[in-house]
Amino acid sequence: MKRIIYADNAATTCLSIAARNAMMRFLCDDYGNASQPYSFSRFIQKTLKEARQTIADCIGASPDEIFFTSCGTESDNWAIKGAYYLGRDIVTSQIEHHAILNSCKFVDSRNGKVSYIPVDNMGMVSITEIDALLSDGCLLSVMTANNELGTIEPIDELADIAHRHHAIFHTDAVQAIGHIPIDVHKMGIDMLSASAHKFNGPKGVGFLYVKSGLVWPSLIHGGSQERKSRAGTENVAGIVGMATALQENYEKLDGNMDYVMGLEKLLIDNLNEAGVLFNRNGSNNHIPGIVSLSFPNQSGESMLHRLDLKGICISTGSACDSHNTQVSHVLKSIHLDENLAKGTIRVSLGKYNTEEEVRTISTALIDISKICRQNNN
Ligand code: PLP
Repeated sequence: MKRIIYADNAATTCLSIAARNAMMRFLCDDYGNASQPYSFSRFIQKTLKEARQTIADCIGASPDEIFFTSCGTESDNWAIKGAYYLGRDIVTSQIEHHAILNSCKFVDSRNGKVSYIPVDNMGMVSITEIDALLSDGCLLSVMTANNELGTIEPIDELADIAHRHHAIFHTDAVQAIGHIPIDVHKMGIDMLSASAHKFNGPKGVGFLYVKSGLVWPSLIHGGSQERKSRAGTENVAGIVGMATALQENYEKLDGNMDYVMGLEKLLIDNLNEAGVLFNRNGSNNHIPGIVSLSFPNQSGESMLHRLDLKGICISTGSACDSHNTQVSHVLKSIHLDENLAKGTIRVSLGKYNTEEEVRTISTALIDISKICRQNNN
């Protein structure tokens, strides 16, 4: 098999060996259902309790504030639709993931009130415009970090503003958890969505943090799992893998952040030294490893395919159908020039990437931009 260079870590990440090892016994041997009273299952209950504690410790929460879900999308749906069922207005940003935006569309289609906060050209929400949008008791939902740009939003400040309006503050931290420090209590976060596969845990598992005292309506009805808030037999192996991966990342957070920032710098330096024309999008305060680059007069889609031929996986900021190129809602919201938006790619590096891989990616990008420039002349 051709060797792959995986530089799409904002899309998903490789399962860590520690997470895989921790999961195996729950897939193969200790497969009991946590809801049963016999000792085979009591061990599973204990395991889930420990995983809940581990996750809570990583984000400064208490275990009774952690609710396991199937993914980040479910957690986001729960936050947004829950607010709607409680009769709360919703205020969110223009650059949220579709898990939030399409949940908001659902609310909107049922006559719920949703308002959208604009962002500046780095993808930072406009703090000055929020006050006017917030109504008493609404839900303010702003992502911790954007998945296309990596831009980190001013979470403490947003939580403060929300609380001044007696609003609840939810953040989609799917791209941030495990990659930057998060302390929900210190930061004033009332609700937070997370997904294991973005921090080297398995796919199909996530969680919603809900601050103690806040009662949130269930979306999934059935058994009495998750303190009767989210029915469904627990994905024990997934939950154990998620807790192991999160703990592993937080134990080595500073080292991982420095390492990945170093890789990112190597990529940018190589492109600059080769005289490649490009814009870097997003804020300087960003998630380590998320690099959004726009190349003038080029097609991000064709760059993706050329890189794919070399075994390199990245993403674009636009998607082509057979008739036109659709620029992403994020690049539209930051008012990126259309020519640049069409030539945008996202390289997202992670802790398992090597300097050698980054050199290979840089060389490939330098070659591709030369070919494209020649073709355009
Ligand atoms: N929120 C953000 C910011 C994301 O980047 C993603 C996935 O890319 C999601 C939510 C959805 O998470 P999941 O893939 O676990 O459903």
